Amino acid sequence: MRAIRRFTVRPLLPPTLAALGELAANLRWSWHPETQDVFAAVDPELWESSGHDPVQLLGEVPAQRWEQLAADEGFVRRLGEVRADLEAYLTQPRWYQRVSGGREDVAWPRQIAYFSPEFGITAVLPQYSGGLGILAGDHLKAASDLGVPIIGVGLLYRHGYFKQSLSREGWQQETYPVLDPDGLPISLLHEADGSRATISLSLPGGPDLVARIWVASVGRVPMLMLDTDVEGNPEHYVDITDRLYGGNSEHRLRQEILLGVGGVRAIRAYCRITGAPEPEVFHTNEGHAGFLGIERIRELTVGESGPRLDLDTAIEVGRASTVFTTHTPVPAGIDRFPETLVEQYFGDAGPTPGVPVERVRALGAEDFEGGDATVFNMAVMGFRLAQRANGVSLLHGRVSRGMFSGLWPAFDEAEVPITSITNGVHAPTWVAREVIALATAHGADAESDDTEGFWAAVDKVPAGELWSTKRALRSRLVEDARQRLCRSWEERGAARAELGWIDSALDPDVLTIGFARRVPSYKRLTLMLRDPERLRSLLLHPERPVQLVIAGKSHPADDGGKKLIQELVRFADAEDVRHRIVFLPNYDIAMAQPLYPGCDVWLNNPLRPYEACGTSGMKAALNGGLNLSILDGWWDEWFDGENGWAIPSADGLDDADRRDDLEAAALYDLIEHEVAPRFYDLDHDGVPVRWVEMLRHTFKSLGPKVLATRMVSDYVRQLYAPAAGNARALNSDYAGARALAQWKARVRASWTGVRVEHVEAHDLGDAPLVGAPMTVRSYVALGDLSPSDVEVQLVSGRVDSEDVLVDPAITVLQPTESYDGGRHRYDAEVGLARSGPFGYTVRVVPAHPLLVAPAELGVVTVA
Ligand SMILES: *Cc1c(COP(=O)(O)O)cnc(C)c1O
Repeated sequence: MRAIRRFTVRPLLPPTLAALGELAANLRWSWHPETQDVFAAVDPELWESSGHDPVQLLGEVPAQRWEQLAADEGFVRRLGEVRADLEAYLTQPRWYQRVSGGREDVAWPRQIAYFSPEFGITAVLPQYSGGLGILAGDHLKAASDLGVPIIGVGLLYRHGYFKQSLSREGWQQETYPVLDPDGLPISLLHEADGSRATISLSLPGGPDLVARIWVASVGRVPMLMLDTDVEGNPEHYVDITDRLYGGNSEHRLRQEILLGVGGVRAIRAYCRITGAPEPEVFHTNEGHAGFLGIERIRELTVGESGPRLDLDTAIEVGRASTVFTTHTPVPAGIDRFPETLVEQYFGDAGPTPGVPVERVRALGAEDFEGGDATVFNMAVMGFRLAQRANGVSLLHGRVSRGMFSGLWPAFDEAEVPITSITNGVHAPTWVAREVIALATAHGADAESDDTEGFWAAVDKVPAGELWSTKRALRSRLVEDARQRLCRSWEERGAARAELGWIDSALDPDVLTIGFARRVPSYKRLTLMLRDPERLRSLLLHPERPVQLVIAGKSHPADDGGKKLIQELVRFADAEDVRHRIVFLPNYDIAMAQPLYPGCDVWLNNPLRPYEACGTSGMKAALNGGLNLSILDGWWDEWFDGENGWAIPSADGLDDADRRDDLEAAALYDLIEHEVAPRFYDLDHDGVPVRWVEMLRHTFKSLGPKVLATRMVSDYVRQLYAPAAGNARALNSDYAGARALAQWKARVRASWTGVRVEHVEAHDLGDAPLVGAPMTVRSYVALGDLSPSDVEVQLVSGRVDSEDVLVDPAITVLQPTESYDGGRHRYDAEVGLARSGPFGYTVRVVPAHPLLVAPAELGVVTVA
């Protein structure tokens, strides 16, 4: 019999144990082992069977157990300590408060809003599909640890992403269990009068869409999640928050309108109800939340909380306070909609009345060379609505500047205003407790801001101790993998009696290589199968065997990815190798946490440069895993020759098959000749001394860099604080914003009158020597503009054989004389800094104190 309705009854805890409810309600438990210990002590078996889910645990503990615990002084004392620790964590000043010191001149924002379509915080809140969501979760957690005032905004998907299992034939199966919000660590936002807080927005041809707002507490950070499962919504509205990345274009567009437009409204409601400061900066993690910019323009043009602004002024205000992070260099990964669909949704009856549909359309138009006129591009809108934008590693920043250079056609790629901040990972979530304990036992302070000091402590850990810890972590992975394998085979229809071999699958003393990630084609799950015999011989090597632990979900609509999984599973099913290579279904946070620490080597072999950053290798490194990777994403930046291995990439090659052959061969060679020999080169105590040296170096060189706290503090200093500064300059009475919008319009309209009429260089003989001074004089016509509207620049440096300037330096010329008719003389002196072919030119770019980059207006005049 099926129930017609379900709900979860929350337990009534005895008063002495009420703190358990508080601990369960704040997700800080998910990265705080001492709090997890308390939950485990409530009922060790239930803690395991619940999958470490405090809400479920507390709901299932029998009443007599509560009586026992309430009478257990030791337990009550520990509970009190952990609760006090949480209280201190939530209220005491942290890095942000210490560094900004409450000083107004530092201009650090009072609040930041962080939008993302997915958040991976813990396995018990499965609202993520992969790296983008994990990153968003780590961003919020690190912001909490640093005391950065941030509010997360996302959707609550009723089915999350999906659960992966395998058919007998190794084909991916998807299931979508219903998540009961009442059983999740979240609570509904209520108005002061006790009613449910909701937001609504109009969609064409239907009633208003209503959504309720769930709040998850991520340490100090509230995370708002919108949910359309509300009585009164028609069925097709209820379905908007059904699952992550499912459905057709229209479904996705509705989700993104809810996230962007509804998300801003949810923040307004949250701040109104709780008194939290309104955000000064809006950060959109990937383009999916881009409609937040349209909603903010609407707010400003209707004068929701101030004077009514004209559209152009509103755009300036919105842009100044918006940060856009792009996450993919894979063209197919860019979020695009049919233009007609956007037109239909943003017409008069749409969610943002007052913002003309032509303007919305223009913001996402691919009106540049190579663009598709029938498409609305969310990334393009992201760049146009954010004054500050970044990629997620140095290499990805560079690739993005090339990829989107069409938006700034007058400028060289190097000047495309997209910077980069390399991703990081949240150490308390991802580093095995045993690793932290090793360092702290030898003097490291896990609470200190000095992360280099923390990781330097690994030098004091004796090699034998490090190695035995690593073995323990490997054993734990082996245990976990066997259990997963067993469950998987049962689901695939095997009888228990057939599964005896699993008891000895994988070996805690064999070199363990991990490979786990989503399965889009560019990540090349099956590169290792390029030469199956070669792989087999590595796995079965008599003295130096390796074992592979592999996992990954394919998007449900991607049959290509599912084929790759099947190919791999079939290889791993073979009797001769199945004890050395395993595919574990349903990669998620719960699997990932023991996986990284258990691996000796973390393998990554994407097609360069399609891995924007990659973060799993960072998690491995923090757990004493050595990276074996193509030089892509973060590894291109931080591989130093000693902290792992670089698989040579044949990225100049057009022949994809040949490229795979070459890169796979290089991978096999590295494993056979470098990795395995070093791992098995043991001293008389059984410790691989040179391997352990590499581990120490990995901890010390990468430990401080790959942290999410480093990433978030970079965002604060390089993007959030400057954005808040500009936003304040524009917001105070909007006069600054009006002036900026009018200035831009005037400069654009008058730019045709700007010309470089004549350039002369003095003091140069026929063959000038290095260090010689060069005086440049330039006559420039500015038409209706004045010298304060522009900057005249000398662009000089090395030239290639086509006379193209390579990495040129920019020197500002000073106005020295003005003549009738809007003509001006500009001078500068430079030293010839290098020998060899040298060239220069003079150009005029718009200049205004509130511009971030000269390319922002897209206009330039070159001599
Ligand atoms: C870290 C992580 C990812 C992202 O890994 P990449 O290397 O960036 O692809 C995906 N899924 C889970 C569960 C993770 O923990």
